[in-house]
Amino acid sequence: MNYPFQYRQGRLFCEDVDLQKISSSLETPFYIYSKEEIKHSCRLIREGGEGYDFKPYYALKANFNPALLKIILNEGFGADIVSGGELYFAQRAGFKADSIVFAGVGKTEAELRQAVEAGIASINVESAAELYLLSRVAAELRRKVSVAIRINPDIDAKTHEYISTGLHSNKFGVDAETAFQLYRQAHADPWIEPDGIHMHIGSQIENEQPFVDAARFLLSFIDRLKAAGIEINTVDLGGGIGINYENPFARPQQARSFTRSILSSYLQVFAGRRLKLYLEVGRSVIGSAGVLISRVIYTKKTPVKNFTIIDAAMNNLIRPSLYKARHPIVPLVQSEAGRWTTDVVGPVCETGDFMAREMEMPELHEGDFIAIGGAGAYGQSQASFYNLRPLVAEYLVEGDHIKKISPALSPVELAERFEW
Ligand SMILES: *Cc1c(COP(=O)(O)O)cnc(C)c1O
Repeated sequence: MNYPFQYRQGRLFCEDVDLQKISSSLETPFYIYSKEEIKHSCRLIREGGEGYDFKPYYALKANFNPALLKIILNEGFGADIVSGGELYFAQRAGFKADSIVFAGVGKTEAELRQAVEAGIASINVESAAELYLLSRVAAELRRKVSVAIRINPDIDAKTHEYISTGLHSNKFGVDAETAFQLYRQAHADPWIEPDGIHMHIGSQIENEQPFVDAARFLLSFIDRLKAAGIEINTVDLGGGIGINYENPFARPQQARSFTRSILSSYLQVFAGRRLKLYLEVGRSVIGSAGVLISRVIYTKKTPVKNFTIIDAAMNNLIRPSLYKARHPIVPLVQSEAGRWTTDVVGPVCETGDFMAREMEMPELHEGDFIAIGGAGAYGQSQASFYNLRPLVAEYLVEGDHIKKISPALSPVELAERFEW
């Protein structure tokens, strides 16, 4: 399938919707998603798992809009959650409890209780203290719980340090020695069924080597457990498959270029083994399916720099500020104007509020619309009211049809939560 965000006669479309045309009548900024692209990404992942006992779980933290969750649910995905709030959203969207897995270093007693009562597929335990608490909760509720211990394999995923999770210096999981002790302990616990193992080494990983190294590490650990009489049936391989943030509008075939090759090498390590393989995927499901549309407010030239000031800011999309992420930015109408080098910045009062720095692009003008690409994942889900700017609306496109899937939330509405 062709990437659905493409220029036709110089105008950017999402599927069959002319983005310039709709942007002039909508309030900017806003997020817009392509249903076809979500389905396509889901299909790519499912195809990658063919031939294995395989189930993908969608990481809600990438984007929790219920309209999107329902598409992904219908594609046969389970849900990967990291909080009681995400458990609530997953269940309310229709994910069955036995298709939900729960990770995170700081699950509270209330969250563990909520998960045990729901009877979810696996609680992925990240410390001795958590296993101790979970055992108590399970015993109290008289419910046997399926548990995977999250192993930290000390493998460098070669990604931004804030989204690397598989190094011993990261807070996630436990080292193999500790894990081995925890499995023994869990094995002896009547309320804990330690039949799974979990790993997640980071996010936006662009090549297969860290995955393959991690998978081999897991396999040898599983064999070690087996020798000690502990049988593992389920391997939760985590997520982290990157997407291509290079300009997908110009080279559409590359928008989701890593999924196929990474999955193929990752799963291959387990070929011939009788293991259920779980994959947790966020970005590679939803990342390429969304763009953030914004309007140029001003341009400004200083003696040393050019600035294109737009109405989207770090409170809408924090990835450039937080992870030095580079998102493609293109005008909705291809411009004949000369090109220049500019910072693309938002109105928030922080120097770190930028969408791009030193980007070469056409010189745009007040009122021009732009699309910030690859914004489907970790965009709206990380949005805030910072600077008392609104949370923006989200739209879903299907063919030539566009539907609002969440309204903007204004500071005036926010104000109602306070006493004055
Ligand atoms: C964030 C997260 C994921 C999803 O990561 P992506 O890079 O979006 O695929 C999967 N599993 C766990 C435990 C996570 O924390």
